[in-house]
Amino acid sequence: MKHLSKTKIVATIGPASSSKKVLTQMIESGLDIARFNFSHAKYDLSAKWIGIIRAIAKKKKREVKILQDLQGPRIRLGADLPEKGLPLKKGAKIKIGFGKFKRGFLPIDYKGLVDDIKIGTLIMLSDGTVELEVIKKEKNSALAKVLVGGKVFSRKGVNIPNANLKISPITEKDKADIKWGLKNEVDYIALSFVKDEKDMKELRKLTGGKVKLIAKIERPQALKNLKKILKFSDGVMVARGDLGIELHLEKIPNAQRKIIDVAHKTKKLVIVATQMMESMLNNPQPTRAEVSDIDTAVIEKADAVMLSEETAIGKYPVEAVRVMEKICKEAEKE
Ligand code: PEP
Repeated sequence: MKHLSKTKIVATIGPASSSKKVLTQMIESGLDIARFNFSHAKYDLSAKWIGIIRAIAKKKKREVKILQDLQGPRIRLGADLPEKGLPLKKGAKIKIGFGKFKRGFLPIDYKGLVDDIKIGTLIMLSDGTVELEVIKKEKNSALAKVLVGGKVFSRKGVNIPNANLKISPITEKDKADIKWGLKNEVDYIALSFVKDEKDMKELRKLTGGKVKLIAKIERPQALKNLKKILKFSDGVMVARGDLGIELHLEKIPNAQRKIIDVAHKTKKLVIVATQMMESMLNNPQPTRAEVSDIDTAVIEKADAVMLSEETAIGKYPVEAVRVMEKICKEAEKE
C-alpha cells in the first residue's frame, strides 16, 4: 500500500477495536503499530488479538508491529475509597500514607511514600485536577493540605512530580509482563515513568536485546536525563498524558519539541502520544485544534503519532485511524 503516510500510526487496542472487522478496517486505513496497554491488558485476550492482527496484516500484505506498553511504577490510591468518590475540599487537611481508608486518612498503594516526600511536596490526584501539599511528616503518614479540591476515586493514579521516588522502576508485574511479551514476540516494549538511563539499562538486561525499547517521557526527571536515557533506548514516547500532570500544561509543546529534537540528533525513534483526537471518543470528526496538533507533530518530524482511548474505547476507532492518516499525508506535503 504505497499510498499510506510516512508517519507511522500507533493505535491502542481495547474493547472498541477488539473485532476482526474493526481491526481489518483499521489496518486498511493505515494502522502501523498496535499498542497493548499493560495497565489494563489481559494475557489471553492480548495473545488472541495479536494473532488476529498478524493474520489480517499478512492477508492484506501490510507490516503491522506490536507494541507492549508496560505499566511501570505507577502509584495509585487505595482500592477501598467510597464508591461514589471522596470529596476533598480546598483548604481541608488529610493524612496520607500506606494502609486502609478511614475518615481523615487517604490510602496510597506505595509503602515508601512517606520516606520519599518532604514538607512542601506536591501530590496530584485525579489526573492532576486535585492538588495536595505536604505540610507535616509523621512516622507512618504525612499531613497534607488540599490546595485544589475535587473528588477522588479508588485506584486512580497519583503523580508526585518533584519527589525523588525510590520505587522500583520495573515492578514484579512488569517483569511477568515482559516474559509474556518476549514469548509472544512483540516488536517494541515501552516503559512508563522512566527516570534515568538506569531504568532503561535494567529493561535491556531483562529483555536481552531481543526487542526494541521505548522510554516513555512523562516525568520532569526524564526530561532532564533525556540524552542519557536515549543512549539506552531505541526510541522515546512523548507521553503527554502524565507529562501534562507532572509539568504545567503550557510547558508541554516546548517539551515535545525538545524530545523530538534530541531524538533526531541521536537518531532514535519518537512517538507523539495522548489526546491527539480525544474528541473522537464521541464524535466522528476531530476538532480543528486536534487536526493542527497532529499536523504539528508531523511537521516537527515525529516518526509516529498515537491514538489511545480513541481506538481503545471510543465510538469511532476506524474513523480515528482514517482521519489521522489523512492529516499525516496532507502535512507530509509540506
Ligand atoms: C501518557 O501518559 O501519555 C501515556 C501514553 O501513558 P498511559 O496511556 O499509559 O497513561
